[in-house]
Amino acid sequence: MRAALYRKYRPALFSDVSGQDHVTRTLMNAIEMGRVSHAYLFCGVRGVGKTSVARIFSKAVNCLNLKKGEPCDECEICLDFMAGKALDLIEIDAASNRGIDEIRDLREKIKFAPNKAKYKVFIIDEVHMLTKEAFNALLKTLEEPPAHAIFILATTEAHKIPETIISRCQRFDFQRIGLKTIADHLENIASKENFEFDKKALEIIAAESGGSFRDAISLLDQVSSFNKGKISMEEVRLIVGHIDLEIITGFVWFLVQGKTKDALGVIEKLVEDGRDVLQFIKSTTVFLRSAMLYKFTKNQSELFSKESLEKVANALSEKEIIDMVQDIANVEKQARLTLIPQLPLEIAVVKFALLEGTEIQQKESKKVETGTGKESKINTGDKWDEFLLEVKAENHSVHALLRAAQPELSGKELKLHFQYQFHKERVEDNKNKLILDKAASKVYGQPLKVKCVLLSGGAKKPKEKPEVNLENQVVEMFGGEIIS
Ligand SMILES: [Zn+2]
Repeated sequence: MRAALYRKYRPALFSDVSGQDHVTRTLMNAIEMGRVSHAYLFCGVRGVGKTSVARIFSKAVNCLNLKKGEPCDECEICLDFMAGKALDLIEIDAASNRGIDEIRDLREKIKFAPNKAKYKVFIIDEVHMLTKEAFNALLKTLEEPPAHAIFILATTEAHKIPETIISRCQRFDFQRIGLKTIADHLENIASKENFEFDKKALEIIAAESGGSFRDAISLLDQVSSFNKGKISMEEVRLIVGHIDLEIITGFVWFLVQGKTKDALGVIEKLVEDGRDVLQFIKSTTVFLRSAMLYKFTKNQSELFSKESLEKVANALSEKEIIDMVQDIANVEKQARLTLIPQLPLEIAVVKFALLEGTEIQQKESKKVETGTGKESKINTGDKWDEFLLEVKAENHSVHALLRAAQPELSGKELKLHFQYQFHKERVEDNKNKLILDKAASKVYGQPLKVKCVLLSGGAKKPKEKPEVNLENQVVEMFGGEIIS
């Protein structure tokens, strides 16, 4: 059986470690200048290279033929360390050795001089798992370490480590690995292994890994074993249950447009097809998050087209997009706990529509009250929704105000009937008028002027259905303008 790819491609030198330059550079300098500390704390999520760096460090600090802070990988000591035969490297997994006895045992071992190397290096992985008593025993050792001992404590949960321990250590925070770095790394491995691969498929694997090399490489391993080293979108989808990007972007666009029925239809279809709903929720979260980041930073995720991100980012206000990401992320948690995983998502879709108020508002907008109290359809056709979206992409607060308007198309004019003078004046504002004229002409395919009028009948009682649009409420409450 071939060795697991993750072990096979573990970095042997500091320069092989990707994505943690700030850590490796500092360590190499310290080793080269002979200014090595006796206790280090490596913090960071799993699979970002904490243990690998700890091992390289233990090798380098003992290497007989150091090359600018890098181990030579040729001397007797390096060879021992690489073969896993070094007696002076002691690795402890605190997850399974968390008690006082293990630390007492360690304190006994530490007294003895190194076997062969200059330093005895103790790597304690998942150190946050130690019991209180064990931490106290460890603290005593860290307070007066023998000159020949070096401790490297590694943890995914730094906040669980007592301050007294942290203050004794030199701390390094390992970063999550960027998508591109992981994808490049996977490509490198795939090439060396002579896998037949599709770059896009590697990107999907990278995106699935949540910034962890270990998870990414394990997944690559799984996918490649599935079909004799062939890594295409098809294999990745089968293993990861990845949902087509088109389905995700289509779903989100339905949400943005307030097309609740269509959005629910997408979920129904997924369930019918036996697709993994949890995976769909996860992927949708990734997409919305990318759209949010695009909105705030213009940074484009490599997973999605700029066009699809831009479309969503422009159509939602900052608050709306943040809310949406939060809601969907919460859905993921809930879906894991329920027997019907699609239910939390369905609830979120319906809730979102209520908050948006688009459907209700738009239905109301299509009717107008006549003087006699009868209702009649206005000939703005289906274009009104499109017009609203067009405006929304330009200016959110105007769009919010438009939801209170009742449109009427007559000749070369798009008349907007308002119930309140306040709304009418805000929309009539010169700057806003220009946006509206432009949007109307574009959507209706002819030169149109927008004209704002107050609804006849004067003091009408307010609508029975209160406006559920938060943005609108905020604008009204504070009389301000939402800057988008
Ligand atoms: Zn060496």
